[in-house]
Amino acid sequence: MTAASEVRRPAPLLTEDNLAYWEAARDREFRIQGCADCGKLRHPPRPMCPHCGSLRTDMVAVSGKGAVYSYAILHHPQAPVFDYPVQAVLVDLDEGVRVLSNIVGAAPGDIRIGMPVQVEFADTKDGWAVPVFRPVAS
Ligand code: ZN
Repeated sequence: MTAASEVRRPAPLLTEDNLAYWEAARDREFRIQGCADCGKLRHPPRPMCPHCGSLRTDMVAVSGKGAVYSYAILHHPQAPVFDYPVQAVLVDLDEGVRVLSNIVGAAPGDIRIGMPVQVEFADTKDGWAVPVFRPVAS
């Protein structure tokens, strides 16, 4: 665990819609918003189910396992709160939801489409955490 004084990553921007997602991440639980009526998952969190129109939601624990759908290696513009290059990744979770995140534990040249990954959590300022993904053996 990183000492609080070393954490530079900014805390997530909290909204009424995403608060439960970030509270779970803070507790090192990977939960995705689901519809309490039809059961389908969606991400990012939002008020209405795009499948059935329900306003009732659940937070569903998911495996955190998935595969790289796409990625980008970001060099500019640089913000002092991130380490560069930033490795932005789109992960298709095994549960069928696509998540925008970062990949850790891989050099930029080693990231591949379809690479299997597993979620873990990176500390942010103010005691929050964000889901990030690490490659795993297939
Ligand atoms: Zn629904």
